[in-house]
This record gives sequence, C-alpha cells and structure tokens, in this order.
Amino acid sequence: MAECIFCKIARKEIPAKIVYEDRQVVAFDDINAQAPVHTLVIPKSHFATFNDVGAEEEALLGHMMLVATRVARDKGLHDKGYRLVANCLESAGQSVFHIHLHLLGGRRFAWPPG
Ligand code: 5GP
Ligand code: ZN
Repeated sequence: MAECIFCKIARKEIPAKIVYEDRQVVAFDDINAQAPVHTLVIPKSHFATFNDVGAEEEALLGHMMLVATRVARDKGLHDKGYRLVANCLESAGQSVFHIHLHLLGGRRFAWPPG
C-alpha cells in the first residue's frame, strides 16, 4: 500500500532498525520503545487489521510468531521471558493499520494490561 508506513519500512523507503528479514516478514525495533526490547514483526504484504487476514494466511501468521520467538532468542529473552502482543482496532490500541506483532521484554509486565 503506497501510503502505509509499515509498507514503506518493508520496501526500505523509510529507515528502521531491521533486526530480521526474510521473503515474508520484516522485524524492526519500535521507534517508541515501551521496554528494553520492543521489536515489531510485520508481514511484507499489507493487511490493515487481523480481521482482514483469511484462513489462507495461516502459515504466514504462524511464521510471524516463530520469527518473534527467534528474535526473542537473539535478544537474550529466551530464558527471561517476553510478551507478544497484537492490537486489533483502536479500542485495543492499534495505531498503525498494517498488522504487526509486538515483541516486548527486558522488564516485568503487569497483567491484566492497561
Ligand atoms: P500499535 O499501536 O498499532 O499496536 O503499534 C504501532 C507501533 O508502531 C507503536 O508502538 C509505534 O511506536 C510504532 N511505530 C509507529 N511508527 C513507526 C515508525 O515509523 N517506525 C518504527 N520503527 N515504529 C513505528
Ligand atoms: Zn502496509
């Protein structure tokens, strides 16, 4: 999508600290980190929200999760623990309408989330 900020990051049209990339996904550090580790995992293809992802994308969604766990390991979180978050629509806190997983770690997190 031409104007989507995460599509632009995936196409390298705007800079980001990319920590992992393959044919299907890109992982990059969040510009406004909420924890010592805060990385976003996005698909290279554009889906505005998780509501827009069909059953045919099951493998892509699984891949995003596995990439998040791989980045967690690379960032030393494997044994300490970490949180994976996906916000869907505004009431959940979604602000960028290109699906992404947040990988958060390096501090303790409260539950339930705010
Ligand atoms: P959401 O609120 O949609 O769940 O998460 C969007 C995340 O994207 C936020 O944590 C925000 O800080 C991050 N973000 C927004 N714009 C940019 C950007 O241009 N670069 C990077 N690296 N992160 C961004
Ligand atoms: Zn996009």
